[in-house]
Amino acid sequence: MPLAYPPFKSCPCGTGRSYAHCCGPAHDGSRAAATPEALMRARYTAYALHLEAFVLNTWHPDTRPPQLRLEPGTRYTGLTVHDATGLEVEFTATLRQGTQTVKVHERSVFTQLGGQWVYVDEVTPPSVEPAGA
Ligand SMILES: [Zn+2]
Repeated sequence: MPLAYPPFKSCPCGTGRSYAHCCGPAHDGSRAAATPEALMRARYTAYALHLEAFVLNTWHPDTRPPQLRLEPGTRYTGLTVHDATGLEVEFTATLRQGTQTVKVHERSVFTQLGGQWVYVDEVTPPSVEPAGA
């Protein structure tokens, strides 16, 4: 599968690395995410690039929704990882929906399935708050 984003551009997840050296290899299947944080970043970037299949494929089968419809008008403008400990990653994703900026704060739980990290669920329900226009 070709890369979904220019490989030399800095990755949408905000590590400062190029997409080809960050989330790209997880997306094209050449190298699975090595840690829960790496998978969380790759999933954020998949949302940003509208790679629904990647989001679903890295979701535990017990908690995965039957389908996922990403809002075409939502832009993912930033990611901050607050904490990555053990199986959990706490982060804030900044989204732009129309003229509104929304911050989604979530603590996610991951596990390994068949040797690959997968997203299970959030520990606490995500708090979604408008962050002003
Ligand atoms: Zn990345």
